[in-house]
Amino acid sequence: MSSIAFIGLGNMGAPMALNLVKAGHSLTVFDLVPAAVKALTDAGAKAAASAAEAVQGAEVVISMLPASKHVEGLYLDGDLLGKISSSALVIECSTIAPDSARKVAQAAEARGVAMIDAPVSGGTGGAAAGTLTFIVGGQAAALERARPILEKMGKNIFHAGPAGAGQVAKICNNMLLGILMAGTSEALALGVANGLDPKVLSDIIAKSSGRNWATELYNPWPGVMDHAPASKGYAGGFGVDLMLKDLGLAAEAALSARASIPLGELARNLYSLHSAGGSGRLDFSSIVNLLKREPD
Ligand code: NAD
Repeated sequence: MSSIAFIGLGNMGAPMALNLVKAGHSLTVFDLVPAAVKALTDAGAKAAASAAEAVQGAEVVISMLPASKHVEGLYLDGDLLGKISSSALVIECSTIAPDSARKVAQAAEARGVAMIDAPVSGGTGGAAAGTLTFIVGGQAAALERARPILEKMGKNIFHAGPAGAGQVAKICNNMLLGILMAGTSEALALGVANGLDPKVLSDIIAKSSGRNWATELYNPWPGVMDHAPASKGYAGGFGVDLMLKDLGLAAEAALSARASIPLGELARNLYSLHSAGGSGRLDFSSIVNLLKREPD
């Protein structure tokens, strides 16, 4: 069993870390929010007073932070890389810009520390169930070292290519997810405005050609799926502002490769509008509220 430092215990990091504790690993955890740390120490993890303290003596360092600035801030500006043992392996799971992932990986390599980018798909439900998909960028040998740990948190592990490639693949996936959630919301809102029951319509779509991850597992209409954020006031889950970040990363990737992403750009503008209306911290499936027709 490995001694693991886990940094970032939010909606995703907490259930991922919990699965590692359950698997018998020795975890030292850190988050800026004390309540997030307490949930893990209650389950048997050790608390660290800082990220630097967490990585002392760790064989594996895992981070699950919001965005590029947090990851660069931690590893580069905060010089966490300088405090990690050169025999340790760093598994960076946040969804960030491919350039940021490459920059941090190069800095790690310069210090002799092995690092992979390993963003995930599967949502908070997948994180809790240990069925995440890991999309890895970096050297194959580092992925093989990480594999036994990743297998305790996920079911599917893909090697997308060299450093940063995991992020590119993840960004493509999330652009499609953003489009599908907005499209599913639009279809449900149209049906309901025309007198259909949202549950009946959702059941029909889930068994028809319009089915997708949202209709199968993450329905945006309140009351259709008890476990979905839509039925819990859009609390927890995957924040609108995090989806907006990912659609911004898709837009940057499109600009740099001169690729066209008309639907991705439209989705980015929809989530941006929704965030500007004060919904940035709600789950991204709340985009349905932008499209719903209120009763006359
Ligand atoms: P979150 O906002 O719930 O959690 C992020 C955590 O990081 C917070 O607890 C915050 O306090 C902590 N943090 C920030 N800076 C820190 C620092 N310097 N040191 C220690 N802790 C710090 O976000 P989340 O939903 O858990 O998402 C994390 C990442 O995973 C994001 O990049 C997101 O895009 C990605 N992701 C999220 C989901 C999802 O369904 N929520 C799914 C797949 C991928």
